[in-house]
Amino acid sequence: MTRLSLRIVLDTLRKSHTPPKTFLQFRTPLDLLVATILSAQCTDVRVNKVTKEILYPKYKTPSDYLKVSRTELERDVHSCGTYRNKAKYIQLMCGMLIDQYQGEVPHTMEELTALPGVGRKTASVILSAAFGIHEGIAVDTHVFRVARRFGLSRGNTPEKVEQDLMQGAPKKEWGKVTTLLISHGRSVCTARNRACDQCPFQNNCPSSWVQGRKDLGKLAKRSRS
Ligand code: SF4
Repeated sequence: MTRLSLRIVLDTLRKSHTPPKTFLQFRTPLDLLVATILSAQCTDVRVNKVTKEILYPKYKTPSDYLKVSRTELERDVHSCGTYRNKAKYIQLMCGMLIDQYQGEVPHTMEELTALPGVGRKTASVILSAAFGIHEGIAVDTHVFRVARRFGLSRGNTPEKVEQDLMQGAPKKEWGKVTTLLISHGRSVCTARNRACDQCPFQNNCPSSWVQGRKDLGKLAKRSRS
């Protein structure tokens, strides 16, 4: 069995997926910052519905998010879950943008991760999708699972998996690593069900059950002969 490299994985996935820069819809870096805060423990579909129908028509600048009361913002983001924390982070973050960055979203990992509610994964998505800057690879639950099933990493933490993935692809590809692995993790290699018999990697993925069945079939034939 040929060992899978990240290069082979990306080239193969590109044939069946053309993901956007990020699955969260946005107009400006601020929109994306707010959407990524809302996406913690919430689906992209739900976040996109809330931002499209409620937030984006109402809030365009950091000051807009500070003009309303905390209770009103909590109501607006309620359906994304953990709404008290999310509303708090959005307002704290908007205050910092105004105080320290003239209302603009900063462009570096260090500055972004110093904002309330923004971790390394969120910062990587913002830098890559909003600014075309690649300082890290966002490792969400799909990327973590799929990278390990492919044998691209044995890391037990998102940070270790990110380090391993960064070794395998040039910087300009790092945003695509995330979106292509998420696409595969949502459509074929899902958390509950590995559809290995429909997967283009079924013959060389170390986690494929197809290969195991072939081996069992050969053993059965041998024992009959
Ligand atoms: S062969 Fe199976 S385990 Fe491997 S990537 Fe495809 S679906 Fe996932």
